This record gives sequence, C-alpha cells and structure tokens, in this order.
Amino acid sequence: MKKKHLVVLTGAGVSAESGIRTFRDADGLWEEYPVQEVASIEAWHRNPELMQEFYNARRKQLVKAEPNAAHYALAEAEKYFEVDIITQNIDNLHERAGSTRVLHLHGELMKCCSSRDTSLVYEMEGCELKMGQLAEDGSQLRPFIVWFGESVPNMVPACELVQRADFFAVVGSSLAVYPAASLVHYAPSGIPLYVVDPKPVSVPGGFQVEFIEQKASEGVPFMIERMRAKLQEGA
Ligand code: NAD
Repeated sequence: MKKKHLVVLTGAGVSAESGIRTFRDADGLWEEYPVQEVASIEAWHRNPELMQEFYNARRKQLVKAEPNAAHYALAEAEKYFEVDIITQNIDNLHERAGSTRVLHLHGELMKCCSSRDTSLVYEMEGCELKMGQLAEDGSQLRPFIVWFGESVPNMVPACELVQRADFFAVVGSSLAVYPAASLVHYAPSGIPLYVVDPKPVSVPGGFQVEFIEQKASEGVPFMIERMRAKLQEGA
C-alpha cells in the first residue's frame, strides 16, 4: 500500500538539544551577536570578515554536534511514511541522522557559494572560508546561507510538498520567520497538523492542531506514535 505523505517543517528548536542555539530564545542574539549583524545581506556588505569568522565558528561547532532523538525519530519515520523534511536550519543534523529527503530553506552551513551568483554552490572542504578564496566566476566565496534581505528560492518546491501532505508537522519553530512561516497556509485544509514546541506557537486557523508541548527529543517520538495510531484508525 502507498505510504501516506508526512511533511515536517523544522526550525532551530529541533537542534537545540544537540547544543546548537536558537536565536529567538536568546532575545535576538545568536551566539552573542545581534542577529542583524551576522544574518543579513547588509552585514555581509558592511563587514564580510566578521561574517566569515562567525560562520567558520558555527561550522566548527556543528562538526562536534550530534543529531538528537528528534532527528533520529524523523529518519525512522521513513519506515511508515513518505517523509519530506523542510528545514529552516542550516545544520546537517537531519541528514546525519539518516533522513533522505531534506529541503533546506535557508541554505547549508557546510556549503559555500559565489557572492555574485548564489546558484554556484560548493561543498566546504573543512570548516574555514577566508577572504580571498574565489569561486570559478572570480568572485569572493561566501557562506551558502539565505540571509535576511535575500529571496528564498526553495520556497517554491517547499509549497508544492506541503500542498500534497497527508500529515503536516511543525517542530521547534516559532513560526515567526517569513516566508517560511507562511508554508502552513499551503497545507490542505482538514489534514492533521502537529506542533512540537515547549512554548506556545501561534498557528493560523482552520486546522485540527495537536499541540505537543514538549522538547523535540521527547515530543517528536511521541508525535510519530500518535500519527501511526491515526494511520491504524484509517486516517
Ligand atoms: P525559530 O523561529 O524557528 O524558533 C525556535 C523555536 O524552537 C521556538 O519556538 C522555541 O520555543 C523552540 N524550541 C526551543 N528549544 C526547543 C526544543 N528543545 N525542542 C523543540 N522546540 C524548541 O528559530 P530561530 O531560533 O528564531 O531561528 C530562525 C532562523 O535562524 C532559522 O530559521 C535558521 O535559518 C536560523 N538558525 C538556524 C539554526 C540551525 O541551523 N540549527 C540555529 C539558529 C538559527
């Protein structure tokens, strides 16, 4: 029998228990820096050296981090569902846990790209990117991150995935960062929607929301059990 399609939108909260900090929880600071100083295109133009240093440090942190029980539970869910993960995260913890279909909305930390043409993308060799390292078009290499002030090209395939979901879940996302948060509007009306977050999250109306007010490492395995029970009921 064809598996039901589960689409999961993950945010920084899913990686919090792997030791990678969210930034909304820290009052707009991300690893002690004001978010706009390290996550906007204006900041890159103003101070590219600081941006390179910041993302070099994030890569060094990421290679030491491990996926947590939430990442593993989502990978395991592929046994029961056709799973697509749409993540706002730039880490690679879903892939390292074994998830096979992961769409990154905001770029990937372990990749870099041309600063003239962000579709020229390269795997990082090691953690350090320096000023003076050039892409094949001769422009400076920059982190492959979608910064505030830039468009989000993967929104188009993400909307298409959400439109054909049978189950939809939001894990560890405040639903405060647009356009990612608007994905909820593309879910077919009436499908079950699950939210896993230790803090209340405001979800647009029109859905049967099951809110699991727990940390991701406990809430996600519990959510998968709930979904499997629903499958048995014939959802
Ligand atoms: P966000 O808006 O997605 O909010 C984080 C959410 O996670 C909050 O609702 C918080 O209550 C919840 N949360 C905290 N701990 C949790 C836990 N243990 N389990 C489940 N939920 C938990 O994310 P943000 O921090 O505001 O970041 C927005 C953007 O910044 C991201 O979309 C991403 O592009 C970038 N970012 C990425 C990473 C990463 O790659 N891991 C980390 C920080 C920021």
